[in-house]
Amino acid sequence: MYTESLVKLGKVRSEIREIFEYGNKRKAEIGAENVFDFSIGNPSVPAPKSVDEAIIDLVENFDSVALHGYTSAQGDAGVRETIANYTNKRFGTSITANHIYMTCGAAASLTIVLNAILQKDDECIAFTPYFPEYGVFIERTGAKLVAVTSEEKTFQIDMDKFEKAITERTKSVIINSPNNPSGVVYKVDTIKKMCNLLRKKEQEYGHPIFVITDEPYRELVYDDTEVPYIINYYDNTFVCYSYSKALSLPGERIGYIVVSPDMVEEEDAYAAVCGSARALGYVCASSMYQRVIARCIDDTADISIYKKNRDLLYNALTEMGYECVYPDGAFYLFVKAMGKDSHEFCEKAKEQELLLVPADSFGTPGYVRVSYCVQTKQIEDALPAFQALADSYK
Ligand code: PLP
Repeated sequence: MYTESLVKLGKVRSEIREIFEYGNKRKAEIGAENVFDFSIGNPSVPAPKSVDEAIIDLVENFDSVALHGYTSAQGDAGVRETIANYTNKRFGTSITANHIYMTCGAAASLTIVLNAILQKDDECIAFTPYFPEYGVFIERTGAKLVAVTSEEKTFQIDMDKFEKAITERTKSVIINSPNNPSGVVYKVDTIKKMCNLLRKKEQEYGHPIFVITDEPYRELVYDDTEVPYIINYYDNTFVCYSYSKALSLPGERIGYIVVSPDMVEEEDAYAAVCGSARALGYVCASSMYQRVIARCIDDTADISIYKKNRDLLYNALTEMGYECVYPDGAFYLFVKAMGKDSHEFCEKAKEQELLLVPADSFGTPGYVRVSYCVQTKQIEDALPAFQALADSYK
């Protein structure tokens, strides 16, 4: 009676949610302070003060009907202009308001772009480890996700494997840097090689291959790490940005798409984004939050707390003998599971009240994700449990 594939999808909870729910149950049983929950990527740092000030000022001083009313489908023109100007100043681009579509977060941005470009039997490449929802979003378009295994240890793109994976059917490539779950940031050199290869393949196959860059973690980088702005390296780029992590506003659902001004048939590309959003019902992102982010355009949540957590956890775990990828960004530590199997490892971790996520659904069996967007005290308190878990493998 109902769409079978969607009934199935609705019944299967993601592994991360599964562990998160287990954590809530366990916290009720033994007290939240006794459960070390590293499962979910919910920012632990509050939104900056500028967000609260913007909300208060808008509520008190902005016309209420306009504040809560519809904006145009693609978002308020003034807000889009503010984003365009800020982006141009920061990255030297030539984006205008008419290259930007406001969305309710990166997930919406991705589904809009994927539906705008993918057709049945097309292929979309993602590099491991990748956000598991990519599979769900891509398959709904009738296209296929092609996973390309990244370089061992560095988790940069393996160019040989990438080249072999590109076929005539390849329509797009999704990149996510800083990466969930590895924390890895692609180096400029990696991006240049990726773009050169794609240009060569575009010529060979005679059609564009689009890069979709999924950027909820762009602002979460440490120690002056550079995150290349892909529009400056590759014409056929869609940027999917979100304020969920940058401003700690995941529940407010606000982000945007940028269609590169140098995109092939750029006007049609933007029209396809508008049409896709319309068909999916994603018109007019939150009117109030569009205005909020425009007023906080150059602010972020206090990233230094995540850096402190990263340093504490990375240094302690590597000292205990865990193998971890060094994370330059995001708020995840990607750890090689001890023993044979990441699920078994996570079950053993539960015995220490440690909640970790097996990374099999990210396309990387044998690894686990540790989200360090938690209070620093939780990391300090959890270190003996991590030690006991490591000892149990000796
Ligand atoms: N992409 C990645 C890699 C993510 O980690 C997330 C959320 O955690 C999303 C997209 C979705 O972000 P949003 O909350 O902005 O929809």
